[in-house]
Amino acid sequence: MPPDYSDPSDREKDRQELFRRFSRGGLARSRLRRLLQGTVWPLLIGSASAAKRLLDFTAAALLLLLLAPMMLRTILLWQATGRHVFQRTPRLGRWCREFDQLSFAPRSNRLFRIMKSLGLISLPVLFNILKGDMSFIGPRPVSPGELSPRDRMARRRYDVKPGLIGLWWLRQRGNIAYDSEAQVDRQYVDSQSVWGDLGIVLRAIPAVFYGKGSTDAPDSLTILGMPIRNLTMSEAVQAMADFLNGTQPRQVCFVNADCANLAYRDPEYLSVLRTADLCLADGIGIKLAGKLLGREIRQNVNGTDLFPRLCEALAESPHSLYLLGARPGIAEAVRDWISQNYPGARVAGCRHGYFPPEEEPAVLREIAASGASLLLVSFGAPRQDKWIRRHLPETGVKVAMGVGGLMDFYSGRIPRAPQWMRDIGFEWIFRFYQEPGRMWRRYLIGNAVFMYRVLVEKYSRRDRRSPKASNTER
Ligand code: UDP
Repeated sequence: MPPDYSDPSDREKDRQELFRRFSRGGLARSRLRRLLQGTVWPLLIGSASAAKRLLDFTAAALLLLLLAPMMLRTILLWQATGRHVFQRTPRLGRWCREFDQLSFAPRSNRLFRIMKSLGLISLPVLFNILKGDMSFIGPRPVSPGELSPRDRMARRRYDVKPGLIGLWWLRQRGNIAYDSEAQVDRQYVDSQSVWGDLGIVLRAIPAVFYGKGSTDAPDSLTILGMPIRNLTMSEAVQAMADFLNGTQPRQVCFVNADCANLAYRDPEYLSVLRTADLCLADGIGIKLAGKLLGREIRQNVNGTDLFPRLCEALAESPHSLYLLGARPGIAEAVRDWISQNYPGARVAGCRHGYFPPEEEPAVLREIAASGASLLLVSFGAPRQDKWIRRHLPETGVKVAMGVGGLMDFYSGRIPRAPQWMRDIGFEWIFRFYQEPGRMWRRYLIGNAVFMYRVLVEKYSRRDRRSPKASNTER
């Protein structure tokens, strides 16, 4: 159909458009645009990886120069014993290319033990970084056979060079490595940038002090009189599922540094914690306390991170949930969140936590009539845990647990700390920043008091007990 030029300005517009596209200048411009599109993007991506390589190379070269006297001395000492200086461990690098990761070969002398405790035997890895086998930041270097690239999730990790530290390394030290290593590596590769790597370097500073945690951590331990079952997140979900399928009503508590301070001056609360069916380790304070007392905490099993995993488990079970607590409208918003994210999980009822004491019998009747198996109570500690202790049989549920501010987070009323703050155990700083008026005493004074009490416990135990204790608690 011929164009409709009833408006003469349309004809002029078309003429200009054709001239712009097909005149000699127009064609040259479009060719130039295509050329730039084909080169700038690859250049940008290439230069990001070149920038990383340049940073790795420069930092490794500088460190090697700085450490040259010490490394040369070690090499000469090792050579004098007539055995290999370096140990070579086969690893899979980028695109699954095999390389040997270098470290100082083990010796049975005292110097080696000192160097090992200071992490200095790994220093030759700087040669791997200089050579380009590895980077400072990246997924953990794995041995051939470990984390197969045939696994779709693990495959992505081989798109980048392995590194000395990375996201998985951080999560392990922050006690929040809940997902599989391959999942975390994928997350890293998908969001990788020079700035992201710099963020990992900064987050590594506090993480170094937390330590990796011990594989021979005790199954249970006591901190300031609070008995804690040392479970990982997935073990905790399994324990909850077992409780839900059991016959006895059970009480589950989360214990953090603030709970320890509350329990210290509240014998009733302490007795609730001591007799609860399950107390789980919540927060970086408990992890540090465990470390100071020589009893490593396996994972930070806080209610807020447990909740979505629990919803996932509930979605595949016949059990339903009752949400009690927080301000009016909050429990309903959490119910909506559950139905959007875990449509299979059934919420049997919900109610806010600001009811007068005379309404309590009606609230208990309502929970019992709902037929819920799991009750989440959000009144704040210690009130929620004492309330559960008093009323658990009347609620008719199989499991009840005090979850503090959890509902405020999932309703969206209070934003949760960003992931990078959680990675380094600084979620409490975010809470303090959100509500300084209410939280300053809990965190600024409370954390210091908690650490002081833990140190007192450490030194008084050392005086009272022999270093070797039972299998379950050390
Ligand atoms: N809350 C309640 N009823 C009350 C007092 C408090 O339901 O009488 C709720 C409050 O709205 C909040 C939760 O209890 O949702 C306590 O949150 P907080 O952050 O203090 O708990 P934490 O996680 O620190 O124990």
